[in-house]
Amino acid sequence: MAAPETNETGRVKHFIRAIIDEDLASKAVSSVHTRFPPEPNGYLHIGHAKAICLNFGLAEEYGGKCNLRFDDTNPVKEDVEYVESIKEDVRWLGFDWEDRQFFASDYFDKLYAYAEQLIELGKAYVDDLSAEEIRQYRGTLKEPGKDSPYRNRSVEENLDLFRRMKAGEFEEGTHVLRAKIDMAHPNIVLRDPTIYRIRKVDHHRTGDAWCIYPMYDFAHCLSDAIENITHSICTLEFENNRALYDWVLDTLGIAPRPHQYEAARLNLTHTILSKRKLIQLVEEGHVSGWNDPRMPTLSGIRRRGYPAAAIRTFCERIGVAKANSTVEIAMLEHSVREELNATAPRVLGVLDPVKVVITNYPEDQVEEFEMPYHPEDESMGKRKVPFAREIYIERDDFMEEPPKKFFRLAPGREVRLRFAYYITCQDVVKDENGTITEIHCTYDPETKGGWSKDGRKVKGTLHWVSAQHGLPAQVRLYDHLFAKENPMDVEEGGAFTDNLNPDSLTTLTNCVVEPSLADAKPGFICQFERKGYFCADSKEHTPENPVFNRTASLRDSWAKMQKKMQK
Ligand code: ATP
Ligand code: MG
Repeated sequence: MAAPETNETGRVKHFIRAIIDEDLASKAVSSVHTRFPPEPNGYLHIGHAKAICLNFGLAEEYGGKCNLRFDDTNPVKEDVEYVESIKEDVRWLGFDWEDRQFFASDYFDKLYAYAEQLIELGKAYVDDLSAEEIRQYRGTLKEPGKDSPYRNRSVEENLDLFRRMKAGEFEEGTHVLRAKIDMAHPNIVLRDPTIYRIRKVDHHRTGDAWCIYPMYDFAHCLSDAIENITHSICTLEFENNRALYDWVLDTLGIAPRPHQYEAARLNLTHTILSKRKLIQLVEEGHVSGWNDPRMPTLSGIRRRGYPAAAIRTFCERIGVAKANSTVEIAMLEHSVREELNATAPRVLGVLDPVKVVITNYPEDQVEEFEMPYHPEDESMGKRKVPFAREIYIERDDFMEEPPKKFFRLAPGREVRLRFAYYITCQDVVKDENGTITEIHCTYDPETKGGWSKDGRKVKGTLHWVSAQHGLPAQVRLYDHLFAKENPMDVEEGGAFTDNLNPDSLTTLTNCVVEPSLADAKPGFICQFERKGYFCADSKEHTPENPVFNRTASLRDSWAKMQKKMQK
């Protein structure tokens, strides 16, 4: 893949940047004002991160502003819990809406006034057709629609009926307010769309003040206009709705006015990015909650240990396109590894321990080895790691009958213990089932620090933890939540949940980690050498009961693939 084209500031060129550059150059706008408009009906996911980085990022880049606007026009689905989680997630990603936190419901009065204005202009009418009749009258892609018998009501009659709708005189479904555009328009969105409907339910912010609520297409463009948004970015599904966005603003004579631009949604392999389906995973108990570390929610990946910086890099890298596509999840994981490779301190942890007894090491002796936290970044400092006669190594770092390419510990074989000593395996002890319970080794005191003075080389270097000093820990290994690349690829009559990966979580309860981790706070991220990146669980980790989530293994399939393609 050729490196994407960048502008003078090193940012990837994309069509939204091109539009903004043009608008600024032609003085169509004097500054950039965007918004991120989540509907508070679920937790944010990595797809939303793309929209957040784009909207807040563009504002930052052009010295403009970005608003946080809760699109809470639908009264039934919204919840305060979601509002709080959305704010937390946007802040975590590193963005700040300052004093510009808005709710579409703040504009209910203004939106109502605009609706009356449309009626007065003869551009909206109250319709008594049922939802089903409206659907039938709408026509199809091939056939034009039919005018409703109520389409030509007078302005007075419409105003009266609309006011009575607002006053609660009519039952749900008996009346709607429709824009009067063109029932034969080739773009079905413009066939007299509904702009207000009766919903006799309380709203989480406005309570029972309203029993009519504006539809998205009417509320969104006007909310943008009220906030002086210049560039209103949404996803491709709204392409046909742009005509209505423009119609509402132009019919009401709003100028200068915002413009809508559509960009591709983010889709990721092995992942589902739809709030409705994510809710289903939570409600049916397929995951432990919204913030289960396997979830693509921002709270999930944060708990998993994905750094915000890695998400921002990823969102910049995937760019902004006009056609939908699916991004390999390996590319996201690559951004995470790249960030953690630079920032995560290295420590020692044994996930599947087997005991090693160093038979010629004095019984009560303890030595401390100074180890750097990072091989390239001295500023991260060092810590002391205790070493004693009994240590743990990884069970699979030993083989009684090693095949040719196995360079780790085996009978008679010498290996290095990282930063400690060379040891040679002399013997193994097994229980009655033949499982190895102890490996007996001797060490060479002349190899202190893990280097032999006589220049003798060993092929294997193993990580280890002192048995007496190590901390018992629980470690959770994660794999993709869905086994299939496309979780929506289901058999006839099946459900996407059939594609859940049964091995997405493996819990290891016998792990041992180096004692310096006694200070690890929830959320602390480190690399267990040779084993991957791990994050102290933000909900369950305590100094007494350490719990680490594996953020990522060390194997970077994306980097490997890129290298292959360059060859
Ligand atoms: P979902 O389908 O998950 O319910 P949504 O689009 O209904 O998502 P909103 O809360 O309405 O969710 O979205 C807020 C903003 O985030 C919108 O501007 C929307 O375009 C954007 N967004 C949502 N999902 C994605 C995605 N997968 N990729 C890019 N942008 C997205
Ligand atoms: Mg939505």
